[in-house]
Amino acid sequence: MTITEILNKVGSSTLRQTQGSGSLTHEEIKVLLAAEGDDKKKLFDKALQTKLAHLDNYVHLRGLIEYSNICTKYCLYCGVRCKNLKVERYQLSDEEVIECAKLAHELGYGSVALQSGERSDKAFVDKITYLVKEIKKIDNGSLGITLSLGEQTEETYRRWFEAGAHRYLLRIEASNEDLYYKIHPHDEKHDFQQRLACIDNLLKVGYQTGTGVMVGLPFQTLDDLADDLLFFKQKDVAMVGMGPFIPHPDTPLWQYRDQIPSAEERMELTLKMIAILRLMMPEINMVAATANQTIDPQGREKAILAGANVIMPNLTPNEFRENYLIYPDKACVKDKPDECHSCLDVRLAAIGHKVLYNAWGDSVAFTKRQKKS
Ligand code: SAH
Repeated sequence: MTITEILNKVGSSTLRQTQGSGSLTHEEIKVLLAAEGDDKKKLFDKALQTKLAHLDNYVHLRGLIEYSNICTKYCLYCGVRCKNLKVERYQLSDEEVIECAKLAHELGYGSVALQSGERSDKAFVDKITYLVKEIKKIDNGSLGITLSLGEQTEETYRRWFEAGAHRYLLRIEASNEDLYYKIHPHDEKHDFQQRLACIDNLLKVGYQTGTGVMVGLPFQTLDDLADDLLFFKQKDVAMVGMGPFIPHPDTPLWQYRDQIPSAEERMELTLKMIAILRLMMPEINMVAATANQTIDPQGREKAILAGANVIMPNLTPNEFRENYLIYPDKACVKDKPDECHSCLDVRLAAIGHKVLYNAWGDSVAFTKRQKKS
């Protein structure tokens, strides 16, 4: 099958023609992942057309609050893994979190995302419940809340949902179980089946559930990446975040840094993943991850043009950002929140997009599904 034939199967510039769209086979996805030159351009053009037809040229913002880098896990890629003793650990105070959320509201972001190293002790679960409720009090619940706090029990997910959070991000990181255990230790704390169960529980509790993977991991193949996209489709998630893997010198996976695709190739692969998924799932929310911008100064814009529609500007107080380096040289670590704000408007206008201010920016895919049921 040629690229044109495959692209004719999915996505479209008109809504009517896309009914029943989205089904691609493993082999077809692989052909698209390998596209170069003119073929690659056709893929990106089609993905952008599809996004504009379904979601218009709006970008949704989530003010990112990196709550704490205290972590109980040993993920082999992550700079804040608990075994990295070089990291100075912090946890924001309640006031700091509320200030960040108020700032998000003042800047018109519409939503915040609370992210943290993983803890599941009672003090942490109670604290998050409290913070979610407090954030909900700002201007009578006008802020949407996304959580990204790792694996928790179904009961904890339910508590936070009932407190007012309505979106949750938990990347599967790698949907191939063998690859999963190459990037995580194989023990009771890092259990692939457990991670899958968490995603299912999030869906069951009623969150707009987001998942995703890193692209360009050691040992990862195009077959793995094709299966990752089929996994997102099969789980029918509302949101996806994908970004290039960036080796961190204080982590075990650093030793494979010469055995992975170049930074440019990881970026290109990420963009292709975003574009193909936009064709497969035209109405989900997809984030232009900060990791894209870290590898390429234009990375965020490129991700938006490839089909992403969400950006998470960092609102963490600057003094803590240097300690939340899940990967090195993270973009915007030194930017002030208001600088970031005006920079975004200008950057997005330059590529024909605009921020939808003062809205939650829920996933259209999720909202439509809820209306049906
Ligand atoms: N503790 C939370 C948040 C993790 S940080 C959780 O487990 O969900 C958010 C994401 O950053 C991770 O899901 C992972 O995909 C990504 N990440 C971590 N280390 C990375 C690295 N070295 N390169 C690129 N992305 C990385």
